[in-house]
Amino acid sequence: MTTRYTHLLKPLDLGFTKLKNRVVMGSMHTGLEDRFYNYPKLAAYFEERAKGGVGLMITGGISPNKQGWLLPVGGTMNQLGDVVPHRLVTQAVHRHGAKILLQILHAGRYGYQPFVVSASPIKSPISPFKPRQLSEKQIFSTIKDYVKTASLAKKAGYDGVEIMGSEGYLLNQFLSRHVNQRTDAWGGAIENRMRFAVEIVKAIREAIGEKFIICFRLSVIDLVHNGNTMDEVITVAKALEKAGVTLMNSGIGWHEARIPTIVTSVPRAAFVDYTAEVKKHISVPIIASNRINMPDVAEQILANGQADMVSMARPFLADPFWVSKTVTNRVDEINTCIACNQACLDHTFKNIRATCLVNPRAAYETELVYRKTKKIKRVAVVGGGVAGMSAAIVAAERGHQVTLFEAKAEVGGQFNLAKVVPGKEEFHETIRYFKVQLEKMAVDVRLNTKINREQLEREGFEDVIVATGVIPRQLNIQGSHRPEVLSYADVLNGAEVGQRVAIIGAGGIGFDVAEYLLKPPTQIQPQLIEEWKKEWGVDTHAHYDSEGGMQNIEIAPPIREIYLLQRKMTSVGAGLGKTTGWVHRAQLKKHKVQMLRGVEYQSVTNEGLWIKHAQQDQLLRVDTVVVCAGQESVNEIMPKEGENTIAHYHLIGGAKLAAELDAKRAIREGAEIAAKL
Ligand code: NAP
Ligand code: SF4
Repeated sequence: MTTRYTHLLKPLDLGFTKLKNRVVMGSMHTGLEDRFYNYPKLAAYFEERAKGGVGLMITGGISPNKQGWLLPVGGTMNQLGDVVPHRLVTQAVHRHGAKILLQILHAGRYGYQPFVVSASPIKSPISPFKPRQLSEKQIFSTIKDYVKTASLAKKAGYDGVEIMGSEGYLLNQFLSRHVNQRTDAWGGAIENRMRFAVEIVKAIREAIGEKFIICFRLSVIDLVHNGNTMDEVITVAKALEKAGVTLMNSGIGWHEARIPTIVTSVPRAAFVDYTAEVKKHISVPIIASNRINMPDVAEQILANGQADMVSMARPFLADPFWVSKTVTNRVDEINTCIACNQACLDHTFKNIRATCLVNPRAAYETELVYRKTKKIKRVAVVGGGVAGMSAAIVAAERGHQVTLFEAKAEVGGQFNLAKVVPGKEEFHETIRYFKVQLEKMAVDVRLNTKINREQLEREGFEDVIVATGVIPRQLNIQGSHRPEVLSYADVLNGAEVGQRVAIIGAGGIGFDVAEYLLKPPTQIQPQLIEEWKKEWGVDTHAHYDSEGGMQNIEIAPPIREIYLLQRKMTSVGAGLGKTTGWVHRAQLKKHKVQMLRGVEYQSVTNEGLWIKHAQQDQLLRVDTVVVCAGQESVNEIMPKEGENTIAHYHLIGGAKLAAELDAKRAIREGAEIAAKL
C-alpha cells in the first residue's frame, strides 16, 4: 500500500537490530507497573499497541532501588524474582514484531517517599521530602544498581533500556546547577555534573555488551533557573554517545518548571528545534517528543531532518492502532490525544491507574471488552454529545443496530463549545474521530430530531440510552434577566461581549471563558510556536545561551478587563486538574484577569454587577456578566419510577449527574453501558 508517511514508516537499522518504523511509544506510567499481580493487564496493554504496529516501546519508569521510588513501594527491578512478570510483557510485545525497552527511572528528589536522595540536599517544590545528598560511595552503588537493573531487563527479554535523564529526575538533578551544588568530582563544571550519567551508560555497555539498546532521555531544554545552556546539553550528548548510547531521546522541561510542556495549549511540536540542534552534533539517532500527536506533524519533523524518530506516549493511550491506521491511510480514524491530562497524568498524580479520556479501554484492555453480541438489538441513543456518541459507537461495533437522535444540527455537544476556546483546538479532533466512527459503524444518525418517549416506543427500540446532557445553570439574582447577562454557551457560540466583563463561577468553564475573552475572535486559532514561546518566556533560539532556555516573557496588553469570581473561599482554580490547573491560573494572571473569591452576588443593574466582597458592597463596572455557574441535567425523557415501558432505559453522562459533568465520565459511561447491552 502506498503511503504519504514514508519517513515515519521507514525502518531504522541499528546494526545489531532493526526497528520496523520510526515511531516510539514513549514511557507512560500507568500504575500497573508497580504491582506484579497487575502484569497480565500490563502485558495486554502493551500487546494491543504492539499489534497496532509501533516500532519501539518504552515501559513506565522502573526504579533501580528503593531510594529511586517515585511512590512508596513503586515498581523496582533489582532481583531475579522481578524478572518473571516482565517476561509476560516482553513476550506479548515480541509476538507482534515490536521492540521494547525498560525505562530505568530513579526519581531522586522527586520521590514522594522518605528515602529520597539527590545531588545536593535541596528539597524540590513538588515533594514534601527533603533529599539526602548521595555520598561518592552511594553514587558508585547506585551505578551498580543501574547495571543490575539493565542486566535483569535483558534476562526478562527487553531489547534494551531507556535511562531517564530528563524531566528533573535524579540524573537531571546531577546534570544541572539548579540542584547540583557539589564541589567534589560529581559537581561544578558540566564535565563533572555529567559524570554520573556517563558512568552509568559506560558501566551498562561494558556489562551487557554491544547487542543491547541503550537509550538516554536527555533534557534538551531544562526550563528551570540555573538550568543547562545548549552548549552544555551538547557536551552531555556527545559524552553519552562516546560512552555507548544507541539512541538519544529528548526530554523537555523539569516537572517543577513553570512553563507548560505537554498541555493542550502548547502548540504541536513546539520543542522540536532543540532536538534538531542536538542532532547536528551527534551521530546516533535522536528521538523528538512532546505534543506530537498526529501523523502529519510526525512525518514533517522527520522529513525536515529535525529528528530520526518521534516519540508519543499519551497518543498511544488514546489510540493503540495509531500506526496501523497511518500505514493503511486511515488517519481520519485516529482517536487523537487531546493533551487534556485528565485521565492519564492527573490520575498518576492521584496514584490511581492511568487511562484515557477519549479511550476508556486504555490500561483496562482485559476489563472493558467490546465483545460481538450474540443477540442483535435495536438500540436508540438520545443525545449526540460525547457520552451518546461513545455509547452509539461501541454498541454498533458490537453488532447492535443503533440509531442516534440529536436535537441540534450537529453532534458534539459540549465539545462544540470547548473547541472554540483558544488552546483547545484539539477538541475538533475528537469530534472528527467520533463522526468518522459513527459513519464507519453505520449508526443511523438523525440530526435536528428532538425525539420523545412515545416515538421511541413506537419505533420499537429495545434499549434506549439517554445522553441528553445538560443546560447551563441560570443566575438567580435581581437583574439576572437583563440582556447584558449571558450564559457561557451564548458567549462561546459567538454572542457579543463588552470590554469589561465579570465571569460568575470559576470552574473549568469560567477559566475557559476568560481565556476565550482574552483574545479578539479573529485570533482564535492554534497559536504560532514563536508567539507561544514569547508568552511563556521560552528562549526562541534553538542554540540558546540562556540558562535552562528561558527568556523574559513578552505579552500583548489585555484587550478586556476581566473579573473571575467565585463564592468559595478556596483559591480560585483550586478545583482544576492537578497538571493543568496551574497553567490556566498562570495564563489568566499574566493577562491581568482579577480573580476574586468569597464573593456574594447581589444584583445586576445598568451600572454593572453589585457584589459583596471582603464584607463590603462593591460595584464592578462591567458591560457584560457571563454566567459559568455549572449545569443542570436534561433528562425528562427518562421514565418515572414504576412507569411501564417497552424498552429498557439507561441514563448516562451529564443527563445523569450534572454536578460532576465530566467528559471523562461521560465517554466511559457510554462505553460501559454499550459493552453490556
Ligand atoms: P464547575 O466546575 O462545577 O464550576 C461551576 C462553579 O459555579 C462552581 O465551582 C461554583 O463555584 C459556581 N456555582 C455553582 N452554582 C452557582 C450558583 N447557583 N450561583 C453562582 N455560582 C454558582 O462547572 P463548570 O465550570 O461548568 O465545568 C463543568 C465541568 O466541565 C467540570 O466538572 C470540568 O470537569 C469540565 N471542564 C474541565 C475543564 C478543564 O480545564 N479541565 C474545562 C472546562 C470544563 P462557587 O460555589 O464557589 O461560586
Ligand atoms: Fe491524551 Fe487526555 Fe487521553 Fe491523557 S487523557 S491520553 S491527555 S486524551
